[in-house]
Amino acid sequence: MSFRARFLLNMITAAMALLLVNLLWHKYEGLPWLQNRIINGGTILAGAAYLAAALISSRALGKTLRKLHSYLLKLELRDGNDHDVKLPDSAPEVAKLESTLERILENRRAETERLRQLEDYRKEFLGNVSHELKTPIFNIQGYISTLLDGGLEDETVNRDFLQKADRNVERLAGIVSDLETITQYEAGELELQRSEFDITEMMSEVVESLEFQAGRERISLQFQDPGKPIIVCADSFRIRQVLTNLGTNSIRYGKENGISRFKITPMGNKVRIEVADTGLGIPEKDLGRIFERFYRVDKSRSRNKGGSGLGLAIVKHIVEAHGEQIDVMSTEGAGSVFGFSLPIGPC
Ligand code: ADP
Repeated sequence: MSFRARFLLNMITAAMALLLVNLLWHKYEGLPWLQNRIINGGTILAGAAYLAAALISSRALGKTLRKLHSYLLKLELRDGNDHDVKLPDSAPEVAKLESTLERILENRRAETERLRQLEDYRKEFLGNVSHELKTPIFNIQGYISTLLDGGLEDETVNRDFLQKADRNVERLAGIVSDLETITQYEAGELELQRSEFDITEMMSEVVESLEFQAGRERISLQFQDPGKPIIVCADSFRIRQVLTNLGTNSIRYGKENGISRFKITPMGNKVRIEVADTGLGIPEKDLGRIFERFYRVDKSRSRNKGGSGLGLAIVKHIVEAHGEQIDVMSTEGAGSVFGFSLPIGPC
């Protein structure tokens, strides 16, 4: 119902009420003439005052609503930095309305910003993924076409090309597996399965598994074995992934005849784990960024050696899920040390 209709209805109700009161009063006849006039005059005056008051307040309400409307229009049009848009009315109800509106708008702005960031993240992620997948796919395509175009019968290239295609398939599988892992972790689906296990034994198994790769790159592996079992409380599957990623990097970015060193040091109720190398090192300006996904210092080396650019991002997620921090010290040209701690068991 419009304000005007409400106002009319109000008036009719008030007039009928006054009439009723007047009629009731007149039932008690016998009042003197003057008194009768005063009552009638008073009733008319009261009715007129009511009318005037209702008219004024309805006009005032209409004015406030018009102001509110233009305020809302201004709010709708303003940009994020314009804080001058204010409701020009100091009534407490209006102030409350204004602060509620501000809150709703603030939430909407925050939500829009969050959606924009998600969209940027999605675009960047998709761009990076297609870039990573492109190289091995094109390589495989190239080797297979050459083989089909007659290379298959050529004894000097057929085996070699098949092996190269196979290596690229392996790389593709590695990238897809890392992508799957990082997507899970970034979606917050990293639920740790903590258990007690011997980190010394795990470290020695990881070092052993890296021997072939290290031998190929002429890098020697050294494990400073603490000589006793050290039981930690952590997710053994994920910690093995951390040790493998750090160990693989120490070889991948190592120098010929260099060393990769694995160290475990008990420190109170924690154990510190370090993987050090005498390799290329990392320039100071890149140190803060190497844990970002797809960030690389030396792009061609990483890709040539089968890196997905996700290894350290995965390491960071896992270590932080354990409530610890991964740290790195590095000198360009001399080598790097990556380290983190784990709580000593029992769980
Ligand atoms: P990638 O698959 O490229 O190795 P990572 O996330 O494991 O991805 O590492 C990110 C980048 O950090 C690497 O591309 C490399 O430039 C640098 N990096 C990682 N570990 C080392 C290391 N031990 N020595 C020198 N640089 C390293």
